[in-house]
Amino acid sequence: MIAMAPAPERTVHCYDCGAACATAGAVPVCADHGPRWMLVRNAPGAAVVITDERGVLLGRRAREPWRGCWEVPGGFVDLGEHPADTARREAREELGVTVTLTALLGVYVFRNPDGQWIQSTDYLGETADEAVPDGGEVLECRWFAPADLPGPMAGPVERRIEDWRAGRARPLPGS
Ligand SMILES: [Zn+2]
Repeated sequence: MIAMAPAPERTVHCYDCGAACATAGAVPVCADHGPRWMLVRNAPGAAVVITDERGVLLGRRAREPWRGCWEVPGGFVDLGEHPADTARREAREELGVTVTLTALLGVYVFRNPDGQWIQSTDYLGETADEAVPDGGEVLECRWFAPADLPGPMAGPVERRIEDWRAGRARPLPGS
């Protein structure tokens, strides 16, 4: 007869104090801080600044936060997804365009109006497609010359455009 080995105990530590958490229930519980289910503080995001001779392609947000503000396509990284794939996926979902990433623009850490910290890996990209805003996420989209940018803009979009204009983008790293 083969004895069944007991299931290994999960070891979960509180992200505030490092104490081992009780894991009897579905959610680990720290004796001092309570339920600990959030493992990431800065939510990972990715975005792409799409440019060509017309300038930069921006969309106006249909949703909160930053409803009505102009932004570049971007969003949260899915579990296990590479940020480059997130950037391409978001451009497809929000603007209906297939994007070729051409450079790494930068890594931006910012807080959205909901108080959530986001760490976004951002790229430069190009597309041969005509943008068609998704409607649910993007109200309208247009190309803007760098000297004629609209306002208001969401999050760090102005910094991203500034970095693109200043030539701060770098060759794409391996993915
Ligand atoms: Zn704790």
